[in-house]
Amino acid sequence: MAVISAPQRAHKGLVYVLPPKTWDTPQAMPCLLRSDEACIISPMLTAKRHLPKHLLLSVLVAVLILSTGCPALPTLVPPKPAPTPTATPAPRPDWQEANTYRVAMLTTAADDVTRIESPTFYYIRARVDFSGETPRVYVTQDTHFTNRADVPLDAIYFRLFPNKPSYGSALTFSEVTVGGHEAELDYQADKTAVGVALPRPLPPGQPIDVHMEYTVTVPLENVHGYGTFNYQDGILLLSNFYAMVAVYDSTGWNLSLAPDYGDPVYAETSFFTMELTVPQGMVVVTSGSTTAKRDNEDGTTTWTCLSGPMRDFMAVVSNRFESSSCAVGYIRLNSYYLPEHKQAGEEILNYARDGLRAYQQSFGPYPFAEFDVVEAPIYAGGMEYPGLIMVAEQHYARSGEYFEFVAAHEVAHQWWYSLVGNDQVNVPWLDESLANFSTVYYYEHTYNRGRADMVFQNYVERRYQQAKDEGHDGVVNQPVDAFSPEDYGAIVYGKGAVFFYKLRGELGDAIFLDVLRTYFQDRKYKLASPDDFLRVAEQVSGQELDDWYTKWILSAN
Ligand SMILES: [Zn+2]
Repeated sequence: MAVISAPQRAHKGLVYVLPPKTWDTPQAMPCLLRSDEACIISPMLTAKRHLPKHLLLSVLVAVLILSTGCPALPTLVPPKPAPTPTATPAPRPDWQEANTYRVAMLTTAADDVTRIESPTFYYIRARVDFSGETPRVYVTQDTHFTNRADVPLDAIYFRLFPNKPSYGSALTFSEVTVGGHEAELDYQADKTAVGVALPRPLPPGQPIDVHMEYTVTVPLENVHGYGTFNYQDGILLLSNFYAMVAVYDSTGWNLSLAPDYGDPVYAETSFFTMELTVPQGMVVVTSGSTTAKRDNEDGTTTWTCLSGPMRDFMAVVSNRFESSSCAVGYIRLNSYYLPEHKQAGEEILNYARDGLRAYQQSFGPYPFAEFDVVEAPIYAGGMEYPGLIMVAEQHYARSGEYFEFVAAHEVAHQWWYSLVGNDQVNVPWLDESLANFSTVYYYEHTYNRGRADMVFQNYVERRYQQAKDEGHDGVVNQPVDAFSPEDYGAIVYGKGAVFFYKLRGELGDAIFLDVLRTYFQDRKYKLASPDDFLRVAEQVSGQELDDWYTKWILSAN
């Protein structure tokens, strides 16, 4: 979920006092590497931009210097740049086979792809057309769905987020078929969901394929909500642009919507094959890994991107991005930014690198081969997706301490939301409070305990304390729409995070970390509820925590 943007914080009148950084020269940072890491600075790759020769020479020299400064380079799996375009048509991928997606995993985690219970497989072919007034995306989507419920299903429901008013868009079907026959459609929740009727009830454990063709328009300079579905400053953000299978659980199909200020997605872990066709020269950044790139005769390029086991698939397209990359262990970490924000783009590469290190050591390994950090014209401070985070342009322009905090928060979402999923609409605190608290581990690992406590106090605890002083204490465990936008920040990002901070103090560092690691292992690739967390915390600590939980999460003073 997003971090509330700086202007809203300023409105709250908070003052953030932090000591100066112990290092302030991001250009010098990329080579402070552990022996198993390497760095690859790769200034600009868009076709429309060519480096002057003297710059090119400097870059080559820099790369040489950096390479010689990283003696363990030969022990690495070579980082994978986007493939060179080929003219040969790519073979149709074996998109319904889990092993196909090993390519997006680290070798050590590749077997995870076979451990997802009856996942949904998506094969999405999308062509982006920039020739009209606003970008249009023409999509052909095949979905291989298996009934994981213990009752037969008459229909499969898909979420259509572009139809949500804050997306400022429309998703219009031209064809929906099941088994080659046109399907009856049942629109729900203001057309943000659609039920596709099945020809006969689908028994538990049985799969079925749904074929869809549709068009999505993308608004220009969308200022509604967080602006995550948007084309602005030459950056196209395609958040949740496809038809996403809704979660079916004991309550039925989950179609509830967050207001504009909450995160919208509640989804099961799935596999995605996406072939995205864009004008040549544009850079495509997605969740997962790019496995092929093919130039077409009409001046377009088709990028083939595969996910690991992920609950959403994000795509960003731009002809303006520059990039810097770095290896964190065997993970390829990329930062994409506008040319005018190169310094901030390299700074955030360091923050993300330190975040991956801190959280892997604290909670457990990040399993995917790639992780992308993307500058984006959004109105939240940042937004998380599996394998990809966006951070707001305004923070790149301003840089500073809050920029680092936002990055640390969004990276933590790879553990809380992406790998361990939850209902972000009805139980938003489970990932948000935990991601905000997790920044403590980032600052402890990267700096020291004193700095971690200071940042937590300034950016998290004070926010709650102020709301409480103003008579706005609230119950943490509520849906997004139960909060005003201001209270949502104070209670979910503030009070919920303070709960975890206090619980850590109560249980002690070692036991509390054991709780988080066990919770992560237990719920990885699955959905979690507050009860799952409480159960694990009580089992691991051997303590009865109901009173704690009631005091902090279920009560307001
Ligand atoms: Zn968040």
